[in-house]
Amino acid sequence: MTKLTVPIAASDLGQARQQIEAAIAGGAEMLELRTDYLENLSVDLVKKLIAEAKSAADRPLPLIVTCRDRKQGGAMAYPDQLRVDVLTGALKAGAEFIDFEYENFLATENRERIEVALSESSKGRLIMSAHNFETRFADIGRLHRHITTLYPAAIPKLVYTANHINDCFEAFDLLRKTSGERIVLCMGEVGLISRIIAKKLGSFVTYASIDEKTATAPGQLTIEELKGLYRWDDIGSDTELFGVIASPVAHSLSPAVHNACFADSRVNKLYLPLLVEGGQEEFDLFLRNVCARSWLSFRGFSVTIPHKANGLNYVRGKQGFIEPLAEEIGAVNTLLIDADGKLSAYNTDYAGALDAITSTLKIKREGLEDMPVAVIGAGGVARALVAGLSDAGAQIRIYNRTVKKAEKLAADFDCDFAGLDDLPNLDAKLLINCTSIGMYPNVDESPLPQECLKKGMAVFDTVYNPARTLLLKQAKKRRAKTIDGLSMFVNQALAQFKLFTGQDANPKLMRKIVSDLSQ
Ligand code: NAP
Repeated sequence: MTKLTVPIAASDLGQARQQIEAAIAGGAEMLELRTDYLENLSVDLVKKLIAEAKSAADRPLPLIVTCRDRKQGGAMAYPDQLRVDVLTGALKAGAEFIDFEYENFLATENRERIEVALSESSKGRLIMSAHNFETRFADIGRLHRHITTLYPAAIPKLVYTANHINDCFEAFDLLRKTSGERIVLCMGEVGLISRIIAKKLGSFVTYASIDEKTATAPGQLTIEELKGLYRWDDIGSDTELFGVIASPVAHSLSPAVHNACFADSRVNKLYLPLLVEGGQEEFDLFLRNVCARSWLSFRGFSVTIPHKANGLNYVRGKQGFIEPLAEEIGAVNTLLIDADGKLSAYNTDYAGALDAITSTLKIKREGLEDMPVAVIGAGGVARALVAGLSDAGAQIRIYNRTVKKAEKLAADFDCDFAGLDDLPNLDAKLLINCTSIGMYPNVDESPLPQECLKKGMAVFDTVYNPARTLLLKQAKKRRAKTIDGLSMFVNQALAQFKLFTGQDANPKLMRKIVSDLSQ
């Protein structure tokens, strides 16, 4: 069972006491006392720290005592001899684990002292660690073998920086190929997923910080994020994986939305942020990596900027199923992988937008037939909406700053087009803004003057940050019906959830999460 371990990285006992209390309150299952953060380090000070940690909880948590070498990420440059004194003293004081670097264990003097201390301790164990803060290990499998051969009773710990998400797979493979107690994790933003699925793959521990300030390694999550956002307590070896493939991904609302709805529906599924940097080549390699490892049980993805066309191309190349309208749009935002590894691709953006329109106007999709619609913009979102509306038989006129782009989009879907200067002559029942005008921070901008809006018209702004844009405020003043971008976002996410689970998500919960997060 993977232990959620919280590093205590304090400069004195008082600070350590506060951190220990916060870690226990947050749900830590094990503490790592990073004694290299202590000022005026001594064996006595560490013994006091161990006594503090042991008495802090009703049931004492197991402790790892570490005094990291500066060369391997240690906070202070303490000499090897003092660091070994601290670790051997920690074993005598009742620490369950000490963590020492493989590289330094090769030095005979260090090794002999640690081996003697371990043989005199009734329960103490050695975690033998290797770190690479720059990049992957040259041969992670060989390094693992060296550690386990050098000291078979040790728990090997291999931690390296993943510079691309595709660098993480060899860490997953090592966990898959080995058994027993071992720790394999990746650092960095893309390595974050390894810290979460450590539990699914059976790593002996994962590390999480109390807050961002006390993180001891790049990409470390907080306990709150791991337990709340990423469903730590529910993860098991059979948990199915989902995620959003994007670059950048850090500000995506999708992990919060889907994980909350997975939890609400009590399904054994977990949703991850998947930062896939690069273009088609890197995207393809990521999906090949995923598909070659059915034991990871990735079952579906949301796909967004810049990979919507890459997703379509990949599934087309693998002769997977592609929803016909997604093919016409030239972009997908949802991928599914079934239990046999077969791929299918969908676009829920257009469906989400059409659902937002029809539910506000209280009509069925057929009610859009022959409706005069003005679409402002000719980018990706405009294309999805024009495809969906044109499929429903609406009469569309596209307005865009770059008229050539409007002309091209209009030609693809047999509609009319014009430049933005023609907006004052607008004559439509439904007006849709598919540009970023009015989006935070430019909240005082609207794509057209208020006078162009008329009573009886419906106005849909796809911008959802903020939900109440200037355009929608203008429309309200002209007593036009309004549809906000949140409805589209929520509807496309609801459609994705249905594809991921076969079940309906709670729309109220989804809307609440999206609107809370996009404040
Ligand atoms: P995109 O492909 O980059 O297209 C951007 C469009 O906005 C283009 O037509 C562009 O005109 C126009 N534009 C940008 N700045 C402008 C300005 N200052 N003046 C006039 N036109 C301007 O982007 P996209 O993927 O279609 O996304 C567009 C917007 O949709 C986003 O900003 C976001 O707010 C919204 N969105 C909503 C959802 C949702 O679920 N509600 C989902 C995704 C996106 P040119 O062709 O002349 O450059």
